[in-house]
Amino acid sequence: MDTQTPPQECECGVQPSVFYLLATLLLTSCSTAMLCASIMTDHWEHVVWERAALAALANASSTTLQWLLDEKVAKGWCESAACECGIPKQTIRHMVLECPNTKFNGSFEELKTLNGKAVDYFKTSRFNF
Ligand SMILES: [Zn+2]
Repeated sequence: MDTQTPPQECECGVQPSVFYLLATLLLTSCSTAMLCASIMTDHWEHVVWERAALAALANASSTTLQWLLDEKVAKGWCESAACECGIPKQTIRHMVLECPNTKFNGSFEELKTLNGKAVDYFKTSRFNF
């Protein structure tokens, strides 16, 4: 005697995969419409950079800027990650605590609480806080 029951058929008449297909089509249509709207409005072409602020940021971080496309787009790169003292990778920790050229000459407690010379150090250093 065979005890297997036959697979039940879906009573709604629509396979569940049809809903996934419809959802995929809906999401694809929405994303295509948003992409077309963004291209047709040209909004991204009217974005203007504040050149002076960007140049100040680049100088503070030793980044070189190159202006492209009628000076509407800036390409920036850092020449080297090395510190002036010779270590291969410059970090904030190195600059504040270790570097012979830029380290803070007060106590660590002054740095932690921003008391004493620490405030003057950060105001006058090249961190540009
Ligand atoms: Zn250094």
